[in-house]
Amino acid sequence: MSDRCLVVQPIHPDGVARLQAAGIDVALASAPDMATIAREIVGATAAITRNAGLDRRAIDAAPRLRVIGNHGVGLDPVDVARATELGVCVVSTPGASTQSVAELAVALALAVAKQLPSAQRATRAGDFGFKYHSAIRELHDKVVGVVGFGRIGRRAAEIFAAGFQMHPLVYAPSASGEAIAAVGGRRAHALRDVLERSDVVTLHVPLRDETRHLLGAAELARCKPGAILVNTARGGVVDEQALVDALRSGRLAGAGLDVYATESMPSDHPLFALDNVVLTPHVGGSSLEAARRTALQVADQVIDVLAGRRPAHLVVPEVWGRRR
Ligand code: NAD
Repeated sequence: MSDRCLVVQPIHPDGVARLQAAGIDVALASAPDMATIAREIVGATAAITRNAGLDRRAIDAAPRLRVIGNHGVGLDPVDVARATELGVCVVSTPGASTQSVAELAVALALAVAKQLPSAQRATRAGDFGFKYHSAIRELHDKVVGVVGFGRIGRRAAEIFAAGFQMHPLVYAPSASGEAIAAVGGRRAHALRDVLERSDVVTLHVPLRDETRHLLGAAELARCKPGAILVNTARGGVVDEQALVDALRSGRLAGAGLDVYATESMPSDHPLFALDNVVLTPHVGGSSLEAARRTALQVADQVIDVLAGRRPAHLVVPEVWGRRR
């Protein structure tokens, strides 16, 4: 029987073409909700998913499933434990979107500092007096707190330092001193230090039990008055209600957010009523360049697993020896 790959959410066509060139039948799911996926995944030997993930029910519905390709690095919506239990390989695409996400973190910090949404509204309204009642800032020579110093955190720190001569203050217990020094940064031994001393705080940790609400009301209250918070990691890393309160009270000057507790949000979400936020709909990894790179990386690894070759980025390496 030939291999069949269910693509849960669309990927760059070059990735699809690569799968097809390897003789794999590719089907795009009719909708990315897990009830639909559980119906459409039945005969698949592979699945590629994005932020919709793949839950236990969908994995259990596919007795021939051998590999799950996670298009991206955020694995929280995939039931990796269940896949591993069944000997299903999970592969991911670390690094494919690093530059794009780091660029977005910088763009969000700049957009908040330069008040771009309000400035655009003022321009359209003919308000060229905007400059007299706005508080536009520079990033130059300021402290940028970097929470999480993996691929994206490191690249963001590099751009902030090289582009704006900012001073990275890094909170990442497992990061090496050399890596931090390489971006001209200093290590913070506690998250509290980063929050108290940074003009911009940028988050780059994965969402796990220990990072859920890493920034809650108590932590946000420690932020330097007038700081800017940037979150391109995961919405759950910040207590969103506490963030809204900190923004309303003026404790934070503003926030640039790409990720949210729930995506998407209802139209009456309190963030929408705030002027000092810049919001993007989880587009960090979605540049044209990154989309193609990610689709090709995930396709290559799906092809590898189906051909019996060990893929480059197995999420749980131990599964290889007892794969389905
Ligand atoms: P990575 O694994 O290279 O780096 C994550 C770093 O966080 C690691 O160095 C780890 O040691 C550190 N870390 C983990 N727990 C920590 C804690 N409690 N305190 C401090 N540091 C901690 O991952 P990455 O490629 O840099 O991506 C980071 C996150 O960005 C991903 O997990 C994902 O959720 C998010 N992401 C978002 C988008 C987007 O579109 N907005 C795209 C890609 C990734």
